Order: sequence, then structure tokens, then C-alpha cells
Amino acid sequence: KFLVFEGIDGAGKTTQMKLLAEFLENRGLPVLCTREPGGTRVGARLRGLLLDPACHDITPRTEAFLYAADRAQHVIEKIVPALERGVTVLCDRFVYSTLAYQGWGRGMDMALLRQLNDLATGGLVPDAVVLLDLAVAEGRRRVLGQRSPDRLEGEKLAFFQRVREGYLEQAAIWPNVFRIIQADQPVHDVHRQILEALNDL
Ligand code: C5P
Ligand code: MG
Repeated sequence: KFLVFEGIDGAGKTTQMKLLAEFLENRGLPVLCTREPGGTRVGARLRGLLLDPACHDITPRTEAFLYAADRAQHVIEKIVPALERGVTVLCDRFVYSTLAYQGWGRGMDMALLRQLNDLATGGLVPDAVVLLDLAVAEGRRRVLGQRSPDRLEGEKLAFFQRVREGYLEQAAIWPNVFRIIQADQPVHDVHRQILEALNDL
């Protein structure tokens, strides 16, 4: 199975992915936890570029290509081989981040981004997307001071508001794959919601 975690910064993707991984491993299932950008050695270099505040002049199109390059490497080098070995793959962000941030957030053409996503993934689609939905102000509050400032630090709340809306709209477009989770609850309540939402898998 291929399970993707999505949501705005501070929603709890990384935390919840770890809890789900522990849950699955305790049941004897082999799990691979990985992330975008930066899930491979090459991807780590691309992540450095993408998050570097000194790279403030990256154009939206360049940014979209760099995320796609990271994803292409990630899918071929890590995700597909793990799935072929029967490993459950948990991935922090995937193509939906590109649509939310570069599409809804930066206003890039959606059809172009979808093409770019298909090129990067070769058409690989996850079995489920866990969308951790959270108010933007709360997400910002959780992140500020906790992480070193990245290239998105200067973005206005309105940008992240569009990203959140973009995720919710995607959940409406692909209701069979998206599972929306209320991420404003205590960590273990969110974990329980996720287990329930993935029960059928
Ligand atoms: O979730 P993570 O910390 O890996 O994300 C790194 C940064 O890249 C965050 O600031 C996130 O908002 C941003 N990002 C983006 N476009 C994407 C994916 C992530 O702007 N497609
Ligand atoms: Mg994270």
C-alpha cells in the first residue's frame, strides 16, 4: 500500500506519519517512511535549493520543475521498488502538494501542473491521501520558532489560506482517495481518527 500525508505546514504530517508507522510495524508490517522534497540523496540537494532563503528569486515555474525533479527521482529510486517488495510506503507530501502550493498558492496553470505530476510519477497514484486539515493561523503558530525559517517564511497568510482551500478542493475532486482528518485535536485523537479513516485498507 502507498499512503500519502498532506496538509499545510504545522498540520502534523510528520508526527502522524511516525505514529502510523509504529502502529503498522507493531503488527509486523514492513514500512518505509519517506518525504518530498528530499526523500533521496539527489532530492536532498534539491530540497536545499527549494528551501534556501537565499534562493528567493526562484520563479514559480522553476520551483514546480524542481519539485517534479525531486519527485521523479523519489518515485523511481525509492517508492516503486519498496512497493514491489510489498513494503507499505508512508510519504510526507506528494503530487497534491504541487497542486496546492504551486497551483492554488502561486496561481500556476493546473493542467500544466497535472501534466508535470504525471511525468514525474509515471502515473503512480496512492491508495489513500490522509489530509490533515487545520486553520492556517494554528498551523503558523505551531511552526513559528520551532523550525528554521525557509524560503516560504515571508508568505502572507492569504497564500497558506489558498493552499488549505486547494487541498479541500482536491479532496472533493478525488473523494475515493482523500480522507479528511480534523488536525486541531490532541496528537493521539488525530492518530485514532487516522486509524479509523484507513480501516478499510
Ligand atoms: O513539509 P516540508 O517541511 O518538507 O516542506 C518544506 C517547505 O516547502 C514548506 O515550507 C512547504 O510549505 C514548502 N512546499 C512548497 N511546495 C510544495 C511542497 C512544499 O512550497 N510543493
Ligand atoms: Mg513536516
